[in-house]
Amino acid sequence: MPRIAVVGGGIAGAMLAWRLCEVIRGTAVHLFTGEPYRRADASAASGGLTRAFEPDAALCLEAADSLAELQSSPELRKWASYRETGSVYLLPGLEPGTAGLVDLVRSRIPGSISIITAGELGSRGTFRGMPKGSVAVVEKRAGYVSPNALRDRLLVELARAGAFVTDGQVDAITREGEVRPTDGNPMRFDAVVVAAGAWTQDLLARTDLADAGLRTKVIQYVLGPFAGTGPGAFVDETSGLYGRVYAEGRLLLGLPTDRWDITPGDAAPDPVLTTRILDVAETRIGYRPPGRKVKAVTAVECYHPTGGLSLRPLAKGVYTFTGGSGGAGKTVLAASRTAARSLVRSLR
Ligand SMILES: Cc1cc2nc3c(=O)[nH]c(=O)nc-3n(C[C@H](O)[C@H](O)[C@H](O)COP(=O)(O)OP(=O)(O)OC[C@H]3O[C@@H](n4cnc5c(N)ncnc54)[C@H](O)[C@@H]3O)c2cc1C
Repeated sequence: MPRIAVVGGGIAGAMLAWRLCEVIRGTAVHLFTGEPYRRADASAASGGLTRAFEPDAALCLEAADSLAELQSSPELRKWASYRETGSVYLLPGLEPGTAGLVDLVRSRIPGSISIITAGELGSRGTFRGMPKGSVAVVEKRAGYVSPNALRDRLLVELARAGAFVTDGQVDAITREGEVRPTDGNPMRFDAVVVAAGAWTQDLLARTDLADAGLRTKVIQYVLGPFAGTGPGAFVDETSGLYGRVYAEGRLLLGLPTDRWDITPGDAAPDPVLTTRILDVAETRIGYRPPGRKVKAVTAVECYHPTGGLSLRPLAKGVYTFTGGSGGAGKTVLAASRTAARSLVRSLR
């Protein structure tokens, strides 16, 4: 039986290890979680917005498959603390491929998705001032999850399934499939998957393995007080604003950043961006918290040029499974299933 190591206990590593346990016996899977980084990783900070529609066809397929699996599994919904709030994705206009993607989502999650004009969306009350010609992709059966809660539960399930779950960090991995934990003896595996998110480049830099074009970027959102039912989960491509109702009485709102190549742990909130988020939120959804007082949340995420969480070979038997690029919360179920199958196939 092949022995596989997964390095990194974020949602990517935990989900991949869990999938591997479905395909091969648990005892062959070893997950290194990377404590204490785990507490400040992207999965812990994730906004968890979950929908099926994505303007990119490959991501849309994975997001739709992931959401369909979530919808069909009461267990996963519970583990991930799924909340169905609906989702709105505002686009500047109807692209030639949009209708095809909507059909794709319809085939996976019937009765959930529709396209409406910005005018129709405006008449529903939440959004205002949308540019002429913009359209909204509306999903009823979408909302948000907690990647953090799901990951924590998967770590418990992995131990139950007989997988080895080791807290603590890995100092280095080698081309030959050796994993060197900070505390403990080196171990040899048939395959090693580095799923260390924004820490992946640093880990690979300690070996002679190329980092396959990975980069890091800060993601920042704010949490502000909010009364009411709110806009559900939304992304507004015309302004960059995204958000959702957070926990009791709070609203999460964010804008994309351009803070690239940041070391994880060095992501202090940018007050200028916080101001910009509040300005755009006031214009687009009429949100103005008292005294403009909000809490800014940041974390560093791993990006890949082709976008999306995927298994990428580095050397024979050595892979990365990262590059969530700000969206792995919604694609991880499908991406991990594909990755586990292809990994096991490559070892036969
Ligand atoms: C602020 C923010 C908001 C987001 N919002 C959304 C959203 O609304 N919807 C959505 O779909 N996606 C969202 N994302 C993206 C999504 O959350 C991420 O793509 C996903 O969590 C990445 O998971 P990961 O496991 O790849 O990385 P991480 O969660 O960062 O995990 C990496 C893990 O590697 C471990 N590690 C590091 N170094 C070592 C080492 N040397 N040895 C062993 N382990 C190590 C760490 O402990 C950590 O647990 C958001 C991301 C951020 C940062």
